[in-house]
Amino acid sequence: MIGKIALITGANKGIGKEIARQLGAQGMTVLIGARDPERGQQAAAELKGGGADAYFVPLDVTNADSIAAAAAQVEQDYGRLDVLVNNAGISADGGPSSALTLTMDSLRRTYDTNFFGVFAVTQAFLPLLKKSPAGRIVNMSSGLGSLAANSDPNSPYAAIKPLAYNSSKAALNMLSVTFAAALKDTGIKVNAADPGYTATDLNQNSGPRTVEQAATEPVRLATLPEDGPTGGFFDENGPVAW
Ligand code: NAP
Repeated sequence: MIGKIALITGANKGIGKEIARQLGAQGMTVLIGARDPERGQQAAAELKGGGADAYFVPLDVTNADSIAAAAAQVEQDYGRLDVLVNNAGISADGGPSSALTLTMDSLRRTYDTNFFGVFAVTQAFLPLLKKSPAGRIVNMSSGLGSLAANSDPNSPYAAIKPLAYNSSKAALNMLSVTFAAALKDTGIKVNAADPGYTATDLNQNSGPRTVEQAATEPVRLATLPEDGPTGGFFDENGPVAW
């Protein structure tokens, strides 16, 4: 993995920072995408202190100018991108079961980050990924985005139905399948990862899993060999039902 360039969005904390740490430990140069300069620089410095070749890249995934500037910076500094992890995500439902009370503003804000942001960042970085001999895109989805799990009354997720978050991740899964199909004749693989319910700020640190565990599958998908899958949805146990 030495010499490879990876960009992780929303990498200043949580699972994204841990993905950056693990990819850095494998020898990749890791670009810490973050919307807040102080938080981004701090995370990059921390990872650098741990031995990673880590750099902060200003990137707000909801801002077209910021995305364009980040792509221009990576182009100028490296001329290509090997790995893009679309990790930045928010949960703005305001409750676990919100279809009846969800506001249009919360729905739009969620989609701005979790879906439109991924679309915009992916399109902006595709020219650089195409310059890689083996581009890899990993989209951070969730088991909560699984239509199969949501429609099964016996699923552990049956009672957890924040409409904005869950539907944004279901849409992200479709984005993953669709980009994978569009890129099937290139070396670029596109997969969706479910990190599992993990203690981070996203859920007020309520999840039982650690960020180290959560990063395992996205890191595997970011480092897939040439004969690895594309257009799939995986957790560490294998394929997840759509
Ligand atoms: P987190 O600790 O809240 O981290 C989210 C990251 O996204 C932060 O760095 C945040 O930056 C960044 N971010 C939010 N909006 C952004 C924007 N507009 N531009 C750039 N960065 C932005 O959450 P996490 O649990 O690590 O979540 C990471 C991903 O895993 C998300 O996509 C989430 O949906 C997914 N996931 C998490 C779980 C879980 O149980 N934790 C389960 C399944 C899937 P700031 O610090 O500036 O806010």
